[in-house]
Amino acid sequence: MAKITQISSGAWQVSLPFLGEDEIIGSYLLAGENELAIIDPGPGSMLEQLLASIRAAGFDPQDVTHILPTHVHLDHAGATGSLVRQLPKAQVYVHSKGAPHLSDTSKVIASAARIYGERMHMLWGKIESTPESRLHTIEGGDILKVAGRRLEVHYTPGHAVHHVIFFDAHSGELFAGDVAGVKLPGVDYVKPPTPPPDLDLEAWSDSISLIHSLRPDILYLGHFGAVKNISQHFGRLREKLSAWGDFVLEAMRKGKDEAEIIASLIEKTQPELQKIARDSHALQRYEIASNYAMTVQGYMRYWRKKHPERL
Ligand SMILES: [Zn+2]
Repeated sequence: MAKITQISSGAWQVSLPFLGEDEIIGSYLLAGENELAIIDPGPGSMLEQLLASIRAAGFDPQDVTHILPTHVHLDHAGATGSLVRQLPKAQVYVHSKGAPHLSDTSKVIASAARIYGERMHMLWGKIESTPESRLHTIEGGDILKVAGRRLEVHYTPGHAVHHVIFFDAHSGELFAGDVAGVKLPGVDYVKPPTPPPDLDLEAWSDSISLIHSLRPDILYLGHFGAVKNISQHFGRLREKLSAWGDFVLEAMRKGKDEAEIIASLIEKTQPELQKIARDSHALQRYEIASNYAMTVQGYMRYWRKKHPERL
């Protein structure tokens, strides 16, 4: 069952149980002034769970006015099109580079089918298009007045070219999507989520600096939950992003293939997580949140596309 927890005045965190695991995929709900906003509605496979958790918090999903994906990856925004069909008042606000993938999901469906094959429906459910009339594009610098809050939109590419964060300067809360990395509750370990095709280490570093300069009090990650020790967290994310990138580059220069690089990255990095977590279940949970195969594929594509001179 999905679990919904109030995190502050007018804000709730939803844990969508993905592959049977809680606290891996998170949505956030904002309520105020007769408006209801969902930040990162999650995958289509979890849509009913999301609606049930909104009801469990005492709201009627029919009153949802805003859907705010941080980016259009399926684990964050896959349910968007199906939701707007069910929720008559809901309008979607998404970065201009992500909007085409929501208004026509055929490319997303085709590429997900290639990657996930038969597991596709079980993982992601329906991936429906969002009618243009319900879709609004946003850019860094925009201000959204939502649920009694003033949300700053900041453009934060690096993990994805269509990634934004939403910052409430009044409360200090920053809804970070994936640009602040993956850190699961109770485990003091940051994993860099670096899937293809958009990974850009330079842009990501600038996005981290931008978020830092906003001086948020608390980050809310998509995977998963609150981070308060922000300087330390970003220090760890930066270190991992660059060290793992160097490792993959070195292996490519030695002529290793993808499967060999995945195996050697696991061998090199997993002992640290194992030591910190002291629990093999945590390894599986981190793998569900951000898997090694896509991590390596993202770096390989980045080096080939952005820095062929270094290969
Ligand atoms: Zn993502």
